Amino acid sequence: MNLMNKPLYDVVVVGGGAIGAATSYYLAKSGQSVLLIDRFNPPHPHGSSHGQSRLLRVAYAEGDKYVAMVRRAVKLWKDLEQESGETLFEQTGVLYAGSKKSAFMESVVNSAQSQEIPLLVIDQKQAPIAGLYAMPNDWLTLFEPEGGFLHTERCVAEMLRLAMARGAERLTNTQVLDIQSSGTGIAIETSNGPVTAKSVVICAGPWVGDLVPALKSKVSYQRKVMHWYADDKEQFGNGGHFKPFVVHDEDSNSWFYGVPDIDGSGVKIGDHNYENAVQHPDQIDRTISPQDTDKVDGLVKSFLPGMGKRIKSETCLYTSTANTDFILDRLPDFDRAFVASGFSGHGFKFAPTIGEIMSNMVLGHQSDFDLTSFALAAHS
Ligand SMILES: Cc1cc2nc3c(=O)[nH]c(=O)nc-3n(C[C@H](O)[C@H](O)[C@H](O)COP(=O)(O)OP(=O)(O)OC[C@H]3O[C@@H](n4cnc5c(N)ncnc54)[C@H](O)[C@@H]3O)c2cc1C
Repeated sequence: MNLMNKPLYDVVVVGGGAIGAATSYYLAKSGQSVLLIDRFNPPHPHGSSHGQSRLLRVAYAEGDKYVAMVRRAVKLWKDLEQESGETLFEQTGVLYAGSKKSAFMESVVNSAQSQEIPLLVIDQKQAPIAGLYAMPNDWLTLFEPEGGFLHTERCVAEMLRLAMARGAERLTNTQVLDIQSSGTGIAIETSNGPVTAKSVVICAGPWVGDLVPALKSKVSYQRKVMHWYADDKEQFGNGGHFKPFVVHDEDSNSWFYGVPDIDGSGVKIGDHNYENAVQHPDQIDRTISPQDTDKVDGLVKSFLPGMGKRIKSETCLYTSTANTDFILDRLPDFDRAFVASGFSGHGFKFAPTIGEIMSNMVLGHQSDFDLTSFALAAHS
């Protein structure tokens, strides 16, 4: 693409991970001329939107304000499935387990009660799940039928494809170097030359600090590791009785989650916390050490004793705010620059809702959601 000959775009979207792909799609659907720029060729394994699967929970321990957003996302994922002809969301349900005094479990129960979300108490020792999980006997085990998991790379690829089908253009392996206000709107300097647009939406994942220095003090980055374990006994496959799960072990204060074996590549397991901060995403150590594997191996041995050996592990990145709420706002020093960031390890499920919110923000339309806690000013 020869950028020098290109016209003024309505909107440039920086970043084609889950959030940028969704934002491009909803902007293109609204009739905007869109150019999406990514420094890699998404979907790719360098940022935050890779690793085969992402959980979708509805009873939301992180706050009830997210429930309407996740329900909107379920509707939009289903619409995207219809348009693409691909399965993106598997509504398998999600299992939650933790001790009765676990604050996480209490938040899940409270959210379900206040938001009228079905949540069933189940007995892990009874059919059909007997023998799959081995939580302590006095733990609470709950099942949420509305939840499930998303096919990560397929979701990104399909949102990008559908955005292009609606006229968006895509410039890959191109880094955005600088963004400035200009007479016509926004002047964007890239590694392939300059581009101009009326508006820009920055969805740069863990590289957001490079483009928006003001966010450097509001977000931190964490190195995460996802692991896959062999399903030797063929009891942990998708479509069977083993369900995606979240476990909160209060004694070790650890959360871990899993998704059934989808395609023979293993059961995905990860632990969730905000440890292992990195200064910059380009400095992340991608080699896997025993420090990355020992704790999760131990959790798997305790809670899922029928699981086979760990077969592979892969790194990924969180971009987190102090209170784990997202940042969705216009940038104060620009009239027409917007940012979607700080997804804090729980943003993927919301991607189409965020895409719709950012598209409405650019178009000046009122959002259906109260965005107060997602404003820059809400993050110190
Ligand atoms: C291990 C792990 C498990 C998770 N589990 C869940 C889960 O179960 N459920 C859930 O909902 N969420 C989960 N999340 C969170 C979710 O995956 C992220 O919130 C989401 O993927 C963030 O997407 P993004 O588009 O903001 O970032 P990214 O996917 O990182 O995309 C940013 C893009 O911007 C591009 N870019 C950056 N800078 C530039 C530049 N200067 N020029 C051009 N391009 C640029 C990058 O190349 C990249 O493609 C998890 C995250 C991790 C790491």
